[in-house]
Amino acid sequence: MRDFVQIGRKIIAIGRNYAEHAKELGNAVPKSPMFFLKPTSSYLVRPSDGSLGIIERPKNVILHHEIELALVIGKNGRDIKASRAMDYVSGYALALDMTARNLQDAAKSKGHPWSVAKGFDTFTPIGEFIEKERVHDPSNLDIWLKNDGKLVQNGNTRDMLFSIPALIEYVSSVMRLEAGDVILTGTPAGVGPVLPGQILQGGLRNPGSDQDIATIEFQVADRPGSGLFGCEE
Ligand code: MG
Repeated sequence: MRDFVQIGRKIIAIGRNYAEHAKELGNAVPKSPMFFLKPTSSYLVRPSDGSLGIIERPKNVILHHEIELALVIGKNGRDIKASRAMDYVSGYALALDMTARNLQDAAKSKGHPWSVAKGFDTFTPIGEFIEKERVHDPSNLDIWLKNDGKLVQNGNTRDMLFSIPALIEYVSSVMRLEAGDVILTGTPAGVGPVLPGQILQGGLRNPGSDQDIATIEFQVADRPGSGLFGCEE
């Protein structure tokens, strides 16, 4: 499933799946999983020439980072039982759920959807496919993010409120999961703003290991262009 970015048809993003993160944004801890959709057009992958992928900050946007473990779905399924859920996971990836926090706050207060706040081009930077076998236990993985070398998020997937199987059971009870789809499993505490020029580096590792299973690195820049959110001089 190395080509999941090309073939996947949806990105399902879980909200408020870590208690400390729900708290830092002043949100209640949910009683059942909460999710929203991001367009696959928001994917950003590292260019093949080795340069850093550029996360675009739209004009007048307070842009926040959210580092997340992504599940890559390997086969189609609906009404998947939690007990069988891991059969549908072909592997993982490390991703950022970039968020226009001020637009999200405005949407929340009006009861509007989050599509704008979460759906801009480049708002889902994602790393390479991680074979399932390389992760010993997805419910005990260290996940970290540095902004310009400073550690800003440092969590462990054991702190998820809803487990990976529970998320798959819930989401697939609503919408069919298809091969290549991605589920972003929520972010641990420590989200915060990023500015043009800053470099975000993230990693995933098995606890106790001194080596990351996977890393990602992206740079932030103003969104160019003449559209409403473009930053033309
Ligand atoms: Mg998120």
